[in-house]
Amino acid sequence: MKRKAVVKVMKPVPEDPSKGRPGTRNRRATAGLAAGTRSVLRAVTEDDGSIASRMEYILRQLGEDPTREGLLQTPERSEKALRFLTSGYQTDIQQIVNGALFHVKHDEMVIVKDIEFYSLCEHHMLPFFGKMHVAYIPKDRVIGLSKIPRIVDAFARRLQVQERLTQQIAETIMEITDPRGVGVVCEARHFCMMMRGVEKQHSGTVTSAMLGAFRKRETRAEFLSLVTRGGSGF
Ligand SMILES: [Zn+2]
Repeated sequence: MKRKAVVKVMKPVPEDPSKGRPGTRNRRATAGLAAGTRSVLRAVTEDDGSIASRMEYILRQLGEDPTREGLLQTPERSEKALRFLTSGYQTDIQQIVNGALFHVKHDEMVIVKDIEFYSLCEHHMLPFFGKMHVAYIPKDRVIGLSKIPRIVDAFARRLQVQERLTQQIAETIMEITDPRGVGVVCEARHFCMMMRGVEKQHSGTVTSAMLGAFRKRETRAEFLSLVTRGGSGF
């Protein structure tokens, strides 16, 4: 085997400017070539470092044919979906809150319950989803109620473990509203348990984070009785 020849094959193939942006994957560029040549070129031209190009590699590794009709745009769609599902890394919490803090004389428990969320477990990158119940007891200011589900999304749209997700939401609301206390309960089901592993479709996981006044037994009990009243439908 001549080493030099191998090196030559591995060189990036110059892009045809009429076939889209440089560095983008392009199947048409290899159309009409002999099958063997095409597969070599595909390997060279299509690994542009993008998630999509790596997805195509993954499809092949799984025994799929990424050139069949149904899969033609799958790597790009998959990248787009993955970027959305992890868009929480780019979310600016201060921008979400955007001044929606209001000074009020209110020291009763505020609860937003049954906030649905969808996240990805960081161990398998499979979805886990469920409901988040968030409560806090204001000291002298409250946060716009619609902001709480957006804070939940900001942390859910990342690679997570349920325990940390619950804790981060509680700590963030604590930090923003400086209340007497925050309680968060998260009920979730994990695809990595439902579809693989123990394959238990009906087992749920409950986590909670209690800060400040919610560490007191009565407060915690009041919160839990309010969010579980009549069943959460989970
Ligand atoms: Zn998992």
